[in-house]
Amino acid sequence: MHFQTTIEPFRIHSVEAIALPDENQRETALERVHYNLFGLHADEVIIDLLTDSGTGAMSSRQWAGMMLGDESYAGSRSYYRFRDVVHDLTGMPHVIPTHQGRAAERILFTETLTSGDVVPNNTHFDTTRANVEYQGAGALDIVIPEGLEPDSRHPFKGNVDVQQLEKILADDVHRVPLVMVTVTNNSGGGQPVSMANLREVREVCDRYGVPLFLDACRFAENAWFIKTREDGYLDRRPKEIAQEMFALADGCTFPAKKDGLANIGGFLAMRDARLAERCRNLLILTEGFPTYGGLAGYDLEAIAVGLEEVVDEHYLRYRIRSTAYLAEKINAAGVPTVQPPGGHAVYIEVRSLLPHIPQTQYPAQAFVVELYRIGGVRGVEIGSVMFAKPQPDGTETAAPMELVRLAIPRRTYTQSHIDYVAEVVIEAASHTDEIPGYRIVRQPPWLRHFTAEFAPIPR
Ligand SMILES: *Cc1c(COP(=O)(O)O)cnc(C)c1O
Repeated sequence: MHFQTTIEPFRIHSVEAIALPDENQRETALERVHYNLFGLHADEVIIDLLTDSGTGAMSSRQWAGMMLGDESYAGSRSYYRFRDVVHDLTGMPHVIPTHQGRAAERILFTETLTSGDVVPNNTHFDTTRANVEYQGAGALDIVIPEGLEPDSRHPFKGNVDVQQLEKILADDVHRVPLVMVTVTNNSGGGQPVSMANLREVREVCDRYGVPLFLDACRFAENAWFIKTREDGYLDRRPKEIAQEMFALADGCTFPAKKDGLANIGGFLAMRDARLAERCRNLLILTEGFPTYGGLAGYDLEAIAVGLEEVVDEHYLRYRIRSTAYLAEKINAAGVPTVQPPGGHAVYIEVRSLLPHIPQTQYPAQAFVVELYRIGGVRGVEIGSVMFAKPQPDGTETAAPMELVRLAIPRRTYTQSHIDYVAEVVIEAASHTDEIPGYRIVRQPPWLRHFTAEFAPIPR
């Protein structure tokens, strides 16, 4: 089509009212939650871009599928339907349902890692890193250098630095039970990994006899980027591209709340029968019987339909375009974002936006609070609150980037919602000198961004 506007390829079938708290209510809420937006009630938020995880709208086909859910404890028909869809997509014979991606991570890492091991990954997502570290192992991020440069326009900034991977394996292969690649690279800006890079990683893993697992969170968005940016893929269907990606891996963890287009769920899939048996035994202990894994039969149906819908070309074109639309709008007003925009989110680059706030005062947290304060928009900090490394002397090493992520729920907000968000961001960016830094007054031992409490530092 020659028209400029990429329309939402759906019409709205059921609506949910949005709460509209005023400025005073938002200020009161901020004080109550100690400036941690995870503590807000959802009804205190106008546009919720905290995460795209499980927050999307399901289709009428998914809801219809849920009515077909078979709630049998063992051997549920819904499990076999789910397994067949996952098998068709991934080619992996062992499909273990879990209640979320992190449950798949915990089971996989419990069965594969011991203390002192290391897991290389382009960039570990926060739950992935925490689950690796919980086993006493080290989570090594080895994304290509361009992946840490917000301005670099490299088309595949999620790529693994294959030379670093080779060096890690050459030095200490017996400490590396598996290599992971996250598609798309969420913590690095939602940036894709190319098929060529996946092939290179596969080749290195083969040479050292180390299995390769995908963190397949946004495999369909990654497939779309391969289709539109990598030579030789323009005429291929997204599903075929996804199948080619999975064919290069020995297994995967998958949160169905992302490209499963579902509100809950996940799975662990693999080719190794013996490892799968051990994982199933642990699954029974903590999640549920292997044909439901902590999910209802109807959840398995919703995921099965979601996995078919997510590789639809019209859906993916709209999805990637609507994210780029927000980025282009705020970029045009001078707000820097990680370039090029990622698949599921726009990442505002805060270090250059708030140069007066040092990283020890969490500039990305400061900006996230400001977006809520002035416009009721909830984003999330991806910076030193989430990723600073504590040092023995009580100080911490700052995160490599200070980002505010605005994640776009799937099929949920319209273009006018996104236009409003752009206005709020532009307004906040126009008075940065009034934004204070923050200090942490309370924090838990891990995943502190969920529950840490903050106080503004008077300017
Ligand atoms: C969301 C996510 C996970 C964890 O999945 P949950 O379902 O939230 O447990 C793991 N890796 C990546 C890259 C993710 O985006």
